[in-house]
Amino acid sequence: MLIALNYKMNGRKTFHLNQLETIKKLNKKGTNLVLCPSFVFLHLFKFKNKNIFLGAQDIAAVNNGKSTGQTSAQMLNEFGVKYVIVGHSERRKDGETDEQISQKVKNAIENNITPIICVGANADEDVSKTLKTQLKFALKHVKTGNNIVVAYEPVWAIGTGRTPTVKEINFAANLIKKQLEKSKINAQILYGGSVNDKNFNELKTANIDGFLLGGVSLETKKLVKIISGV
Ligand code: PEP
Repeated sequence: MLIALNYKMNGRKTFHLNQLETIKKLNKKGTNLVLCPSFVFLHLFKFKNKNIFLGAQDIAAVNNGKSTGQTSAQMLNEFGVKYVIVGHSERRKDGETDEQISQKVKNAIENNITPIICVGANADEDVSKTLKTQLKFALKHVKTGNNIVVAYEPVWAIGTGRTPTVKEINFAANLIKKQLEKSKINAQILYGGSVNDKNFNELKTANIDGFLLGGVSLETKKLVKIISGV
């Protein structure tokens, strides 16, 4: 199972250091953890655990040059970042385009960083249609053999306390798998959106490979319950 933690623009230095100490001790066999803090906190995340990986929350669509405020794939790779979240709905809402997302995925792969590609529809959108379009762009530069992760995150479930049913998650996961098969791409599929220590046991029965956790990443006790219960 793969569990990625998206801390978003949250957490302070002491929080991260304390939580990391707790997480390091968990060492759950068969569970890989990806920790995605804000860029300024990446340097705090020092660990030797083979099942913990460093992740970033974004990556530049260009590789270098006149891009004030951006962080390139090469820079992240040099820093030891192994995963990057791409196309999160909070970024799409801020104007990130499908074209930029496909470029970010390409840059990540070319620099040995596994993109965690977020896809998901708004409540008033057609799930199949939205996922197909988002994936068409996101997979544009992905080739057979590349490592990628796709996170199904219905926009209406993010931070709302509402989750889809296991049946709905399976429907979306199947749709994603079919589109990946067409392009002969292997990927791990995650679910993300209001996962917590209460609904985790139910949601983990879905036909997926893991989870992308947002809000609950900030609640260490609940997080430990989730990781221990895998
Ligand atoms: C997310 O933003 O990727 C996410 C899963 O958030 P939350 O768990 O808070 O819904």
